[in-house]
Amino acid sequence: MKKLNKKNPAIAYTIVPKDLAGHLFQVTLTVDAPSADGQVFALPAWIPGSYMVREFARNIVRIRAESNGQPVALTKLDKHSWKAAPLKDGSAALTLEYEVYAWDLSVRAAHLDQTHGFFNGTSVFLRVLGQEDQPHQVDIQKPADEAARSWRVATALPELKARRYGFGSYIAGDYDELIDHPVEMGDFALATFKAHGIWHDIVVSGKVPNLDMARLCTDLKAICETQIAFFEPKTRKAPMERYVFLTLAVGDGYGGLEHRASTALICARADLPSSAAPKTKDISDGYLQFLGLCSHEYFHTWNVKRIKPAAFAPYDLQVENYSPLLWLFEGFTSYYDDLMLVRAGIIGEPAYFKLLGKTVGSVLRGSGRSKQSVAESSFDAWTKYYRQDENAANAIISYYTKGSLVALGLDLTIRAKTAGKKSLDDVMLALWERYGRDFYHGAGRGVTPAEVEALFDEISGSKLKSFFDKYVRGTDDLPLAKLLAPFGIKYSDERKSAKPSLDVNPGRDGNDCKLSTVHEGGAAHRAGLSAGDLLVAIDGLRVNATNLETLLGRYGVGSRVTVHAFRRDELMEFEVELQGDRVPAVTLALEASGRKGAGPLRPSAAR
Ligand SMILES: [Zn+2]
Repeated sequence: MKKLNKKNPAIAYTIVPKDLAGHLFQVTLTVDAPSADGQVFALPAWIPGSYMVREFARNIVRIRAESNGQPVALTKLDKHSWKAAPLKDGSAALTLEYEVYAWDLSVRAAHLDQTHGFFNGTSVFLRVLGQEDQPHQVDIQKPADEAARSWRVATALPELKARRYGFGSYIAGDYDELIDHPVEMGDFALATFKAHGIWHDIVVSGKVPNLDMARLCTDLKAICETQIAFFEPKTRKAPMERYVFLTLAVGDGYGGLEHRASTALICARADLPSSAAPKTKDISDGYLQFLGLCSHEYFHTWNVKRIKPAAFAPYDLQVENYSPLLWLFEGFTSYYDDLMLVRAGIIGEPAYFKLLGKTVGSVLRGSGRSKQSVAESSFDAWTKYYRQDENAANAIISYYTKGSLVALGLDLTIRAKTAGKKSLDDVMLALWERYGRDFYHGAGRGVTPAEVEALFDEISGSKLKSFFDKYVRGTDDLPLAKLLAPFGIKYSDERKSAKPSLDVNPGRDGNDCKLSTVHEGGAAHRAGLSAGDLLVAIDGLRVNATNLETLLGRYGVGSRVTVHAFRRDELMEFEVELQGDRVPAVTLALEASGRKGAGPLRPSAAR
């Protein structure tokens, strides 16, 4: 951590939620010592954690510069950069004033209206090129609007001149830190708990009647303490001084973005627990999904926010940063998010196996898994995983889901090769100790693919090159049945081949059935149907958004049916030979004899 010059930050922003109905933040940026050659400013093209160029600067709707009360000319250099003319008075400060349109209800950008305000620094704070290492101060001002009378502020940014949860000024050691602390403002619900001595806030924005904050605190505390103790078994020292879960509850939504001392989450309000519901230890699928999301983003506090791929150390915020390692940073995080729910006592083995079975099923569903490896999927995240089209299932593999199966495969392989003395846990710990723990306390550097592989060899005591060749760099399916058997876990992935199917993902368009995916080589594909086709009838009977399975259920596998469908506005007719369903039903179960081992559910013997 750098020593902050808190008295005179050379870079100072003021952000005002200026027009709630018009969704405009107004930002003023003062640079004490602008470059003598003309200061350049740029807004990031992407936000770390979400690997897609989003060109945030397109939301800047008005920008001007001045110095000593006189206008200064600004020249646009490219889609996200501006250069101010050199100042005649070399000792004068330069001030920029601009407005940012904030109407993206996601965790990735900024949003402002009468109900709340939210922003990521990547959407609102122009970077002062050459001065990124200076302390950056932000004065967050209260909107004048009557609707905001009782608003508060939630962020993990340290306060400079502000009360906790108050409007006022906040401070960051450098630009990288500034943009890693999203800010929420509004009339949110708030609760606080301590996990291994560190204060954690859970902030929920959006209307949620009878929100059961006590239950949220209890469950999150268990998850957070389990993860802190996982990475620091001796000291139980968390890597941050404070942590904030920023949650936006909406009618329908799901997503999260990790930061070094907080996370921004979006969820369906129905997923959050209600204090009016009967008291029970049961967990609804929605609440389980929410806790899994919290567990996932929290695990990133170590894995990707501190242990980083070399390609992200440091980030280049203006262009794509290519790393072949997202299968580790997202896949392993996906593996541990559910596992931490088991270890924290939130769910038991049967529920865990159900979640694992779902993940395996989703990996086995698409033929894209035979065309793209998880290393390639990581590298191409920018143009493929993050920009999926209707052909994604036939063309790509998710480095999240298959990455989590690679984690499981490596975990089981290490346990088998070391007779249970070591596990994937030991690899994570070594990554943490060698690359993560001191990332922000010195010359933080990321890990390279070669170093990752060498570490696996070291911990397992054997050469794992062929595993990496087949399942990381190659497209082979993980041999899960074989890998799980020594641990007493029975695996099966049967297809219900007697069930007649078109081999499509039926999407819906209003009350109509509009094909969202046509699986390669399947019945619909062979007959000529395409994603986007709107099904009208099967053998003269109308198809709607919900009755496709019922209609097909009257036929046998191998039957021929006539399908009418609109492609755009043209009616087309297809002869389809129905096939057996190819959706794998994956089941995993612990055999009685496997009680002792239980594989991935237990930390390895050495710990
Ligand atoms: Zn993630």
